Amino acid sequence: MPHLAYVNGHYAPHQMASLSIEDRATQFSDGVYEVCLYLNGHGVDFTAHMDRLDRSLAALSIPAPMGRRALALVMDRLLIRNRLRTASLYLQISRGVAPRDHAFPKPAPAPSLIMTAKRFDCDALKRQQAKGIAVISTPDLRWKRCDIKSVSLLGNVLAKQAARQKGAGEGWMVDADGLITEGASSSAFIIDQAGCLRIRTLAADILPSITRRAVLDIAAQQKITIDHRAFSLDEAKSAKEAFIASTTAGVTPVISLDDQMIGHGQPGPITKAIISRHWDHMQAFFDQPARAPSASRMAQRPAR
Ligand code: PLP
Repeated sequence: MPHLAYVNGHYAPHQMASLSIEDRATQFSDGVYEVCLYLNGHGVDFTAHMDRLDRSLAALSIPAPMGRRALALVMDRLLIRNRLRTASLYLQISRGVAPRDHAFPKPAPAPSLIMTAKRFDCDALKRQQAKGIAVISTPDLRWKRCDIKSVSLLGNVLAKQAARQKGAGEGWMVDADGLITEGASSSAFIIDQAGCLRIRTLAADILPSITRRAVLDIAAQQKITIDHRAFSLDEAKSAKEAFIASTTAGVTPVISLDDQMIGHGQPGPITKAIISRHWDHMQAFFDQPARAPSASRMAQRPAR
C-alpha cells in the first residue's frame, strides 16, 4: 500500500502529492508547520501543538484553513488511511498560491494545507536514549522570530548539516553573546555543577517547545531546581549532564559537546530520571482507550 499524503482536501500517494510552484511556501517560506506525535492513535500534548499552530498562524496573519476540530479529524483520517497508530505527523500551512510578489497577495488566497505521516519507532528512540548523542556547536544564523514555527528553516538546516558532517546527532546554535540558543530541531538543557536544570528563557530567539514544557513539569515534580538562564558554550562543556528535547527525540542525553565529554561521557542519573518520567507521560497515551472513529476503522486492518 502506498504512503498517502494529504494535500488541500485530497489524499494522494507520496510521490504524486505536490504543491503549486507558486505556493508561497516554496518561494518565500511563507508558511508554518507542526510535528505531532501519535501514540496508539492519540495525539501527545495535542492541544499544546494546536495552540502553538494558532499562534504561529496569527503571528504571520495566515488564516487557519479549517477549524481545530476539522483539522484533528483530517489528521486522524490520514493516520487511518496509512494504517498508522504510532506515528509522527507533519502538518504545513502556507499562505497559499499567488503570483510571485513579496507582499501579502490581495485578495488573500486560500491557505494551503499539507500533511504527511510516518511510523514512529519507540524502540529506536529508547536505544538512542540509552546511548546518548554527540552534539557540536555552530553559530546561530537564524532570523529574529524563531518563536514562530515557520518553514523558514535554512539556519536550522545548516546547523544540522554541520552536526552530521562531524558525526554528531545535533547542532547547538550559539548566539552573538556566546550563549546557546537551542538545537537545530530540539531544545537544549544542561544540569550544572550545582545540580540545577539550566534552560534559556522563552523569547523570540527560540521555539516554545512543547517537550520543554513537559520536561519542566517533570523537573518541578522531581524537585529539581530550575534556573531559567541561558548558558554559554563553556558552561555547557563543564556541565554535569546535558540533554536535548523534542517531540520526536523525546528527552535524549548529550554525552559530548564539540568532542569534549559531558560528565562521564554517558547519560547521567538526572537525565535518566527525567527520561523515565517522560516515558510515563507518553505511556498514559498508550494506555488510553482507542478513540472512535479511529478504533472502529483501524480494527478492520492490522495497525503498524
Ligand atoms: N527547537 C527547534 C528549533 C525545533 O525545531 C524543535 C522541534 O522541531 C524544538 C525546539 C522542539 O520542539 P517540540 O518539543 O515542540 O517538538
